[in-house]
Amino acid sequence: MPELPEVETTRRGIAPHVLGQIIENVIVRQPQLRWPVPADLPEKLRGRIVRNVGRRGKYILLDMEAGALILHLGMSGSLRITAPDAPPRKHDHLDLIFGNGLCLRFHDPRRFGCLLWTGDAPELHPLLADLGPEPLEAEFSGRYLHDKSRGRSAPVKTFIMDSHVVVGVGNIYANESLFRAGISPVRPAGRISLQRYEKLAEAIRTVLEASIEQGGTTLRDFVNEAGNPGYFRQTLQVYDRDGEACRRCGSDIRLGRLGQRATYWCPHCQH
Ligand SMILES: [Zn+2]
Repeated sequence: MPELPEVETTRRGIAPHVLGQIIENVIVRQPQLRWPVPADLPEKLRGRIVRNVGRRGKYILLDMEAGALILHLGMSGSLRITAPDAPPRKHDHLDLIFGNGLCLRFHDPRRFGCLLWTGDAPELHPLLADLGPEPLEAEFSGRYLHDKSRGRSAPVKTFIMDSHVVVGVGNIYANESLFRAGISPVRPAGRISLQRYEKLAEAIRTVLEASIEQGGTTLRDFVNEAGNPGYFRQTLQVYDRDGEACRRCGSDIRLGRLGQRATYWCPHCQH
């Protein structure tokens, strides 16, 4: 599944090709995505100029005059820049064709992605309005996590993966960050000190930034803007390493389930 680093990599990849460009045409081959592509989307988009290519959580936002296209890659979506006459592959559901002669093509085998128009500021859209802060921006901090977690008994891993708390901390990043911070994934969120949350916020930032720098992590369905699979797996400390030796202390890495998600930790290094 494309995670925040893959989405950010995609955003950076497409921005230079579409920024300042006018949308000349929109071709919808398959409107049945997670939410149906609105029937009037082509009409809404034609003639508009892309003023900014932003991101909020895992949503890519193409800001235009008086509105924005909100795009989500879902479980298996990807975007790439092609020539408009390049033959579409299976699962190439939608094309935006720009005045510079390039095409932004949306591909999504599992069709959990979406493309929606809003005439308001995108941050007011119901999908985005309740999202927590961006982990790479200043409002996200150990102090924020500490204050937000008081009185909460949910495990800290579940807490940091909640997009109402902070966006973009997917399963791999949650596992890796908790290891770096030395915090057990099952510890109740409300019973972790400010000092430990400072370490955790720093770890989340470090892990996400490293992954963005490498162009996204592993995930088999991710295709970057040049059409190459996004296999840039960083050195993982715990994720997918159950039964292997902890790189810090040599103990066996454990695997359990927490809220249906595979959870990896070192019982010696994390408390
Ligand atoms: Zn260890």
